[in-house]
Amino acid sequence: MPRPRLRRALRGALAALLPVALLGALGGSAQAAPLAAWPEPVPVVSHVDTADPVVFVTIDDGWNHDPAAAKLLLDRRVPASLFLLPGAYAYDDAYFHTLLDQGRSRVENHTVNHPDLTTLDAAGQRAEACGARDAHLAEFGDGPRLLRPPYGAYDRTTRTTARACGAKALVTWTYDMTTWGQWTPPTPRLKAGDIILLHFNETVEQDLRRALEAADAAGLKPAPLRDYVTE
Ligand SMILES: [Zn+2]
Repeated sequence: MPRPRLRRALRGALAALLPVALLGALGGSAQAAPLAAWPEPVPVVSHVDTADPVVFVTIDDGWNHDPAAAKLLLDRRVPASLFLLPGAYAYDDAYFHTLLDQGRSRVENHTVNHPDLTTLDAAGQRAEACGARDAHLAEFGDGPRLLRPPYGAYDRTTRTTARACGAKALVTWTYDMTTWGQWTPPTPRLKAGDIILLHFNETVEQDLRRALEAADAAGLKPAPLRDYVTE
């Protein structure tokens, strides 16, 4: 994020260039495109600053459609943020429709192909983020408002791309509570505003149960992350 003086200077430069850009646009020149597509970078959120006794459950990718995990999400009315890949519902969309329609979960953006976005140029990042946004919108009728970059890897381009593709924030995480293979990470002492990362893997139900128990132990309730991230 540039310093305020620098940002003001950039805005001034932009304002000065605008008439040229408009002329360029009228003349059909490609020069106007970069200026028109220069949105403010979105914030990056790994923890929400809130006094409410809440935590945020986020579940990524979506490959394993575990019925027990779905039952737990529905029974406990967990407002989970599901950062899904379009490929993970292409072969079975009913699993996620049930979670959205009968529960409180929302689908968020995790790109199309799960690349490290920092290896892509602006057009490549945009194809990944806007592509997933469009796929979610077509499938669920609800556009994602949060973008989780795969591996938590992002650069400045990712932050402007997120804005251009309808997201109001990049979301990483406070604690990864995913069991990877045989390794289950130690259960953290959760605090208000923490963001918990899980995955739809083969241990998703146990991991989710552990996360909900940790929240209970800390006197915290899962809340909808989208509502807590300001514009
Ligand atoms: Zn992922």
